[in-house]
Amino acid sequence: MEIKQQRKKPDYGYWIIALIVFGIINVMLYNSLVKQQVKEVGYNVFMEMIEEKGISEANIESNKIVFKDKSGNIYKTGIIEDEDLYKRLYDSGATFGSKIIEQTNPIIYYAVTFLIQIVLLYLLWRFITKRVFKKMGDSKDMLSFGLGEGKSNARVYVKSENGIRFSDVAGEDEAKDLLKEIVHYLHAPEKYTEIGATLPKGALLVGPPGTGKTLLAKAVAGEANVPFFSISGSEFVQMFVGMGAAKVRDLFKQAKEKAPCIVFIDEIDAIGKKRDSTLTSNDEREQTLNQLLSEMDGFEGNTGVVILAATNRPESLDPALLRPGRFDRRIPVELPDLKGRIDILKVHAKKIKISDNVDFETLAKTASGASGAQLANIVNEAALKAVREGRKVVQQDDLMESVEVVIAGYQKKNKVLTNKEKLVVAYHEVGHALVAALQNHSAPVTKITIIPRTSGALGYTMQVDEDDHNLMSKTEMLNKIATLTGGRAAEELIFNEITTGASNDIEQATKYARAMVTRFGMTEDFDMVAMETVNNQYLGGDTSMSCSPETATKIDSMVVSIVREEHSKALQILKDNMQKLHEIAKYLYENETITGEEFMDILNSKENTLLSHED
Ligand code: ADP
Ligand code: MG
Ligand code: ZN
Repeated sequence: MEIKQQRKKPDYGYWIIALIVFGIINVMLYNSLVKQQVKEVGYNVFMEMIEEKGISEANIESNKIVFKDKSGNIYKTGIIEDEDLYKRLYDSGATFGSKIIEQTNPIIYYAVTFLIQIVLLYLLWRFITKRVFKKMGDSKDMLSFGLGEGKSNARVYVKSENGIRFSDVAGEDEAKDLLKEIVHYLHAPEKYTEIGATLPKGALLVGPPGTGKTLLAKAVAGEANVPFFSISGSEFVQMFVGMGAAKVRDLFKQAKEKAPCIVFIDEIDAIGKKRDSTLTSNDEREQTLNQLLSEMDGFEGNTGVVILAATNRPESLDPALLRPGRFDRRIPVELPDLKGRIDILKVHAKKIKISDNVDFETLAKTASGASGAQLANIVNEAALKAVREGRKVVQQDDLMESVEVVIAGYQKKNKVLTNKEKLVVAYHEVGHALVAALQNHSAPVTKITIIPRTSGALGYTMQVDEDDHNLMSKTEMLNKIATLTGGRAAEELIFNEITTGASNDIEQATKYARAMVTRFGMTEDFDMVAMETVNNQYLGGDTSMSCSPETATKIDSMVVSIVREEHSKALQILKDNMQKLHEIAKYLYENETITGEEFMDILNSKENTLLSHED
């Protein structure tokens, strides 16, 4: 395709600077080479030189004497009354009376300066054109790719001393093992070929955002002693049909030349989307994908080009891309478990100054569900907070606070709640906490706070599980829903009025109840039939219905009845413990934040009043 390259106006600034530099250098050359230096000396030196017969030529003018020694150097000196000057000069054998021109360099000097000038001009021109074109290339002008048409802009990493290593990636041991094998193969291929094994051509890293996929690929680059091409899928997506495919071709050409090597395509879903028969099909993307598919077929397993790719939308990838022979290996990079979280926190804590008594386990438990990127962020936020407060080392408190920042946003210092609102929020949160604490099978309450957060939460109740849960029982799910309705239930009981504060609780309770019905087969009516499928496992997990409209209606009413039942259960629990509700809410209202221990202390004090109805 021919696209006219848009010429930018030349940059006059560079030319002006260049001309000035050129001028200065020329003057210097002229002074040192062309124009011979005339040395000013005293009259005594002149007299001595006559004595020694060292002068070849002299010219006596009205106000100065210019003279030349035997080796051609020119001098000048002032006039002094000197009677037999002419005679002495004559005796010394000098010629005088003729005009001495103060520039008497031979032609060779001109030739040399001329040559130097040409070299200088050439260098200047090179420098300027490079600068100007670089600028043109940098400004991602729509048309500026004309300079490097179809070139892949993959960055090549070669092993560096301070690069990322496998030890920088915590958790994710399975993924690391699989990748280590690839690195090992590239180091010692004969061990594999001897036995007849072929290396997987490609490996696909899949997992939620921020779990370290890109980091793992960089670690492979750091560990493998081979060139590492890294490119993002979106860089293949071009304005014009055919450009992306050309880039793919170029990338693989380069890779084959450099083999053994690793090619890493990040966010491959940008080009690897399923080809479908919808009308809005994207020609350019399909061509790019086809090119990728045929390139991946085009080299043998043992040429030593390994393709790594990462995505968080594996379900959207074209099946052709995933078949064995292309991406043979699928490496799950999941959210870290408790141990993984502890390790990740420790890896990042190494980069900051941290006090010795930090309890990583508590932190990791509190930050359940956090990704590696979030954990890295938590550590950094804590360090920032320590600096803000003028401390030199990071403490447990800083880390705890930043866990909350990641969960709920920053504290909103200037958000002022009216006293009434504050009271409502206090009862609401204690409602959650009490319902949670008074049911079996729910995680212990560790903190209740009514300090508003930037996320919009006016307060929250933190529950932290003792250990990681992989399964959730039906009872636990129901309890969870009851806990979520506990806030609203408290408001109803105490104020006989309901507020908008429960919107997030409602959303979550509904989600749990719906999942119970449609996905987990936890109801009698539907037994083990799925009514919904999850679309984006790693990105929020939105679902789509797969049932008849009648069933959908039924599902809705079942969801309502589940939530209603749990709501009334929560109401009952709170009614039975009205006194505790008042007591703890009052305490929370006054203190704004209470810890799990304080909460349990009040709850467990005067055990006998626990079930008495005071209202
Ligand atoms: P993604 O999976 O979305 O590509 P990245 O690899 O870009 O995520 O991770 C972003 C950042 O999060 C990394 O630079 C690193 O600081 C941190 N991180 C994520 N996972 C881990 C991990 N397993 N170990 C250590 N740091 C991690
Ligand atoms: Mg990434
Ligand atoms: Zn709530």
